[in-house]
Amino acid sequence: MNSNYTKYYVLLTLILIVISSSFASDTIILRNSTRLIDVSSSIHIYEDATAELPLELIIDKQFIRTNKKVANLGISKSVFWVKIPIKNMSNQNHFLINLSVPTIDFIEFYYLDKNNKYLVNEMGEHLPFNNRIYDDPDYIFDLIISPGESKVVYFKIASKEGIQLPIKIGTEGTILGQIKNKGILSGIYFGIMLVIIFYNLFIYFSIKDNSYLYYVSYVLLILLTQTSLQGYTFQFLWPNSPVLAQTSLFTLPSLVGISAMLFMNSFLHLKYFSKTLHFIGLGLILPYLLSIVLFLLNYFKASQVSMEINAMIVSVYMLVTPIIILRRGFKPAKFFLLAWSVFLIGVCIYVLKDLEILPFNNFTRYTMQIGSAIETVLLSFALADRINILKKEKEMSQALTLEALKENEKLITEQNIQLEKNVEERTLELKKTLSSLKDTQAQLVSAEKMASLGQLTAGIAHEINNPINFVSANIKPLKMDIDDVLELVKKYETIPKNDTTINELKKIDEFKQKIDFEYIKKEMQLLLNGIDDGARRTAEIVYGLKNFSRLDETEIKEVNINEGIQSTLLLLNSSVQNHTEVIVNLGEIPLIECLPGKLNQVFMNLLSNAIFAINSKKNNSGGKLIISSYSSNSQVFVLIEDTGIGMTEEVKNKLFEPFFTTKGVGEGTGLGMSIVFKIIESHGAKIEVESEHGVGTKILVILNAKIAANRS
Ligand code: ADP
Ligand code: MG
Repeated sequence: MNSNYTKYYVLLTLILIVISSSFASDTIILRNSTRLIDVSSSIHIYEDATAELPLELIIDKQFIRTNKKVANLGISKSVFWVKIPIKNMSNQNHFLINLSVPTIDFIEFYYLDKNNKYLVNEMGEHLPFNNRIYDDPDYIFDLIISPGESKVVYFKIASKEGIQLPIKIGTEGTILGQIKNKGILSGIYFGIMLVIIFYNLFIYFSIKDNSYLYYVSYVLLILLTQTSLQGYTFQFLWPNSPVLAQTSLFTLPSLVGISAMLFMNSFLHLKYFSKTLHFIGLGLILPYLLSIVLFLLNYFKASQVSMEINAMIVSVYMLVTPIIILRRGFKPAKFFLLAWSVFLIGVCIYVLKDLEILPFNNFTRYTMQIGSAIETVLLSFALADRINILKKEKEMSQALTLEALKENEKLITEQNIQLEKNVEERTLELKKTLSSLKDTQAQLVSAEKMASLGQLTAGIAHEINNPINFVSANIKPLKMDIDDVLELVKKYETIPKNDTTINELKKIDEFKQKIDFEYIKKEMQLLLNGIDDGARRTAEIVYGLKNFSRLDETEIKEVNINEGIQSTLLLLNSSVQNHTEVIVNLGEIPLIECLPGKLNQVFMNLLSNAIFAINSKKNNSGGKLIISSYSSNSQVFVLIEDTGIGMTEEVKNKLFEPFFTTKGVGEGTGLGMSIVFKIIESHGAKIEVESEHGVGTKILVILNAKIAANRS
């Protein structure tokens, strides 16, 4: 995470351990070789605590030889002078000196010119980057020295950051080649980090999980920190801003720390798994902020120390927390733990290098980069793993949703079926209601019709009855009178024929002859018989009408239905055509409890249909109408057979439907059979129909003799 602190951490325990040593053997010998000469371990250092002394006064001071492989000067306000005696045994005169410490604020290189006068070459982070001769974060100075010549060069160094002094001398080609290699390595590191940044940024945009945003800022800050330490940010991002170059070195580690805390908080769901750890995490952000504030207030050392101490606490916290969270069952925590451990190992190696327990080499020098690169990659895996988990959760919830949906669908289907059933039932009910309404209507119509017909017939019966009574009552006395008259005439005939009467009698005889008295006598008898017969028949019709007009009765009565059948036939007599033979076979049947008027209506409708069917035959060919009644087992059967046109299957199926008719307008209402059905039903009776198209129809009505009919 933060990288600087380890250096200074080292400083806390380690200041220059100084061993006085001989000078002569410390002279750097330049030879004809392309090898780099590492002078780090043979430099001499003088610390000017006043930070004010000029070179002239320094030259005579007692320099101390460092016994370190790489001198580590720590954080100090002092100015450090470095003295390097050099002898050129090669045949070249141009070398480069490389101070691989990009973070140094202030560095001056003193060397003697031809006139034995010290010249100064000034660099450092306090100057814009493009002041440098060589375009690299390392400080590289030209060393001009003739073959065979000996020279002493000085560096004057001051920095707010801790100072380590890896110094190398080599030919131009060697130094620049080394710089190139370093650039390639940094480029790889930079590339890895950038890939991770963009990769996770894209993931953030697609899944909008905040962890990714924290992670991206964390990696970005690490990258900035590491590259700042390498001096690349100064070289490339803000080459003209020494202030930014220094500020970044102080603030970036804290910002890395903050983003690391936020990332961990979000990644490990601390808020959910442990409120305590969550708040500790947030609390540990404060010292980082403090460090930044201290830096801004120019308390560099305090800023540095605050950041470093906090970094140590944080590194423990960040090691312990994922272990706890892992134990609470959050699996991605193990990746976090692994990543963090790798980084910490990198840091440890770095520290061990600073403590000189491990050698300063390209590996130890870059462990922090390597560690952070591996860490970020591992964390990337962790995030990916989290995606998997999320995906699984999502798939599971999707499966659940799907199941629920299916369940819903099933429910809906079931409900639909139920609904359809309900609708069907309702429709059926409605149909029933409709048909019963139609029936009722039909009944009303028929009742109305019958009521008026009843009234009419009753009226007719009454009107005819009187005159017919006259006729039939008068016939007998008239007959008797005529008999008397005839008796009288006889007496006249028996008068003896003498002279006094002979003429008169002769005249009478002549008249008798003339009017054919004998014939008249017979004819009179015939006429009277005819009148008698007519009167009797009229009386019968009247009786029939009267009987029929009982149809509006609503009282249940015990009647002989033969009478009803007869009177109905009587009424229909006129519609029976000549060629039609009517056979009436009424047997002995018990009385039947019924509404007689209603039953008459049944016979009326059945018989009129039968007669109509016969009349409808082609060529008026006539036919037979047989009406029989008989009884068996206290049931009464009325069978009406006709040899009419018969019914097709289709007509038969619709026979009892109200308003179903095959007859023309004015000829039929289609109500007859529906009324029949209704009445039969209300009498608890049965009706059976047999019919063959073109042959005829048989209709059988079966009535129960003693079973009370329900009124309708
Ligand atoms: P309508 O007589 O007014 O047509 P009905 O309900 O009495 O109405 O009869 C319905 C139909 O049944 C008739 O139109 C007729 O086609 C048929 N039908 C009824 N009785 C007979 C029968 N005895 N022979 C042939 N067809 C019949
Ligand atoms: Mg009819």
